[in-house]
Amino acid sequence: MTDPVLEIRGLRVDYGLGDAAVHAVRDVDLTLHRGEVLGLAGESGSGKSTLAYGLTRLLPPPGVVSGGQVIYHRDDGPPVDVLALSPAQLRAFRWAETSIVFQGAMNSLNPVHRISTQLLDVIKAHEPRSTAAARRQRARELLRLVGISADRLDGYPHQLSGGMRQRVMIAMALALEPQVVIMDEPTTALDVVMQRQILGQLAELRERLGFAVLFITHDLSLLVEFSDRIAIMYGGRIVEEAPAAQLYRQALHPYTDGLLHSFPALRGPRRELTGIPGSPPDLRAMPDGCAFHPRCPKAFDRCDKELPPLGPPGDGDPGRSVACWLHPAAVPLTR
Ligand code: ATP
Ligand code: SF4
Repeated sequence: MTDPVLEIRGLRVDYGLGDAAVHAVRDVDLTLHRGEVLGLAGESGSGKSTLAYGLTRLLPPPGVVSGGQVIYHRDDGPPVDVLALSPAQLRAFRWAETSIVFQGAMNSLNPVHRISTQLLDVIKAHEPRSTAAARRQRARELLRLVGISADRLDGYPHQLSGGMRQRVMIAMALALEPQVVIMDEPTTALDVVMQRQILGQLAELRERLGFAVLFITHDLSLLVEFSDRIAIMYGGRIVEEAPAAQLYRQALHPYTDGLLHSFPALRGPRRELTGIPGSPPDLRAMPDGCAFHPRCPKAFDRCDKELPPLGPPGDGDPGRSVACWLHPAAVPLTR
């Protein structure tokens, strides 16, 4: 595995304060390595977007980061404590070091401005000394990079299809050659063919440019195909993490297994689609012990009493982690 580029340690994110706070992200530890695609999956409401907003400090109120650390490793300088950056430092950091493509980002292109204006603005804000001609040349290159003809540069967003608009957003995210690109459901609003085209292209760009991706989706089957490693989130916590192929072959956490049986596989042998009974937990009234126990087909005595820590399973591969009493952690990473 390559060196870490982004390390999230014990991250906690709440909505609201005091007794009324909803704990949406609970003690999350996650490491993104240089150049890898780390997939993050979980049902709606499991805290995936909150984690992305929290670690990039884009949380809308009443969201607050209530604990933990986010360390970004530059390739040419000392590590950066992201949660301690001043607003000015944060502006310089975003886009240039870490960029984000959010859910439905294609709709955030301003309809009254040409594509060129919006792409050039990002480049100009971070490279104010570059010439107008150089910026325009860069914008044309970026469009070509994501498979859009450069003569679309002076078009308006409504003249592009949804897939093309989403590609423009990806081009914008890559404009300043960041080392980390966070993608939150980047293709969910698109049809399956377009989804696969865009993700295939993203994989190619990643090979060429070497950035790392944190790819967030509720659709685990997409991640199995496009990620190197996958982390599974439930009730605000990471409950399993493993190389994508291993996780697909043998899920250790019953929730992961349920997710794998909730989506048709894009490749390989078919699985019976059984789904997961019940609904995600209410974050205001989390069950005691393992939060998944009310829905778990394998729950036993210990499960509703003690919270299983995340860590390499004592009975399995040290290169993966799970939080489940069926595979107690040899060395717990979290409490
Ligand atoms: P989705 O895929 O639907 O976006 P998600 O896994 O990304 O789901 P989040 O959007 O991060 O989940 O939401 C995590 C939890 O935080 C949810 O239970 C949600 O109800 C809660 N939440 C989100 N925004 C707020 C808010 N403004 N106030 C209170 N609770 C919130
Ligand atoms: Fe199921 Fe128990 Fe494992 Fe939780 S700890 S996933 S309830 S077996």
